Amino acid sequence: MESGGNSLATVAGTDGTKRRVCYFYEPEVGNYYYGQGHPMKPHRIRMAHALIANYGLLNRMQVLRPVPARDRDLCRFHADDYVSFLRSVTPETQHDQIRALRRFNVCDDCPVFDGLYAFCQTYAGASVGAAVKLNHQHHDIAINWAGGLHHAKRCEASGFCYVNDIVLAILELLKLHERVLYVDVDIHHGDGVEEAFYTTDRVMTVSFHKFGDYFPGTGDIRDTGFGKGKHYAVNVPLDDGIDDDSYQSLFKPIISKVMEVFRPGAVVLQGGADSLSGDRLGCFNLSVKGHAECARYMRSFNVPLLMVGGGGYTIRNVARCWCYETGVALGIEVDDKVPQHEYYGYFAPDYTLHVAPSNMENKNSRQLLDNIRMRILDNLSKLQHAPSVQFQERPPDTELPEYDEDEEDADGRYDPNSDREMDDASPVDETSCRPANEIQTIRAEMDIIENEMKDQEPHKLAAEHAKDVEVMDEVMPPCSKASGIESISVDEPSDTKVEEDKHAAR
Ligand SMILES: [Zn+2]
Repeated sequence: MESGGNSLATVAGTDGTKRRVCYFYEPEVGNYYYGQGHPMKPHRIRMAHALIANYGLLNRMQVLRPVPARDRDLCRFHADDYVSFLRSVTPETQHDQIRALRRFNVCDDCPVFDGLYAFCQTYAGASVGAAVKLNHQHHDIAINWAGGLHHAKRCEASGFCYVNDIVLAILELLKLHERVLYVDVDIHHGDGVEEAFYTTDRVMTVSFHKFGDYFPGTGDIRDTGFGKGKHYAVNVPLDDGIDDDSYQSLFKPIISKVMEVFRPGAVVLQGGADSLSGDRLGCFNLSVKGHAECARYMRSFNVPLLMVGGGGYTIRNVARCWCYETGVALGIEVDDKVPQHEYYGYFAPDYTLHVAPSNMENKNSRQLLDNIRMRILDNLSKLQHAPSVQFQERPPDTELPEYDEDEEDADGRYDPNSDREMDDASPVDETSCRPANEIQTIRAEMDIIENEMKDQEPHKLAAEHAKDVEVMDEVMPPCSKASGIESISVDEPSDTKVEEDKHAAR
């Protein structure tokens, strides 16, 4: 396998340079349960965390407990009625809402389970919180292994995903950065994220995935974006059994070219671990090191990096992979010998972090790979320069409420005082972490614009508003027109009430 390194890294600092890392973990996350026989197991996040803790990595980074995303945070991307539905549906009441279940695709792959909404709020809150942290510019890398649910659509659950935390995090990053790159190494196409940003040139999505008679069915190499977004969606279709060398023979040249032509201000890496060898649902043949080489390579560019999880259904390997990649983020090569800890038994019989890939056939011939690489590099060469956006007032960060200091620590490891100078609940008028040039963003601006409406002259107001809606529509294609036409039979509490309830519960 080629080793890392690239031209940008030599300018910005060598790959070995230490990075400031923050890591989001909610100790409750492992308790959510999709149901008997369901391959998606949030317990794997807890297993990864236990490994990370027992390898001693927690004290090398800032560990944060996520603040749950609120309704209004989720509604930056998702339809109001879909969010209301997720908030109100329960395993007991779901049978009274068959039409809504069908309409929002909450069935089979995406079942209703206890605490479903709280689960969504947790993993989305962590990804948005991680983006806020990166925007504060005190960290180089932010990690949320509970996130990466890339299939969720604006008003539809899909592929075990209900809320698209990645889209929400990218929207947050766009408040500071003109351009954000999304890279997806899950075995499944990153369709939800691609769709959300298909018509904009401010977000480039690059997905490496199994293509051909495989969920979700999208991700053809010919799908490259639309309108202003033409050539800003990149799809790398792969076949069964791809190994580390084959994978990197595409990943590195494509990403290198993407970084050169797109010059993103921040990168989101979806590290779905179902592309590993031996995955229960996957059919690739990557080793943990081969998978982690993607993270190592992205890190080498020294651009603010948000690392999220995603798929991964052989849970001991998911834990191995995300623990090892946490080490990569920190610049630490963790030992192959798994330390004694509560889930030690899962790593029998060898109790090692690395397991050899299988001898399965690699259906990706050299010729096929060369052809894919050439076509994609050719498309990328059509992008003359990185697009820029009109500079405007920067919208405020998503305000995350202060952590409750009386709350129990996360496994005794979370220290709410450790982040004093990095106040997540920074008041919006705080100027210390504002950039000199502030840029426009997409959907989040709506709040500010609406608040400012009364203070502006009517003609200016209308113009500003229209422009913003235009930008928003360009980035957010409307969904299936369902919202607003058909009302759902859910008892919908007002936002104010939800806020009160939430605070009462905390
Ligand atoms: Zn997947």
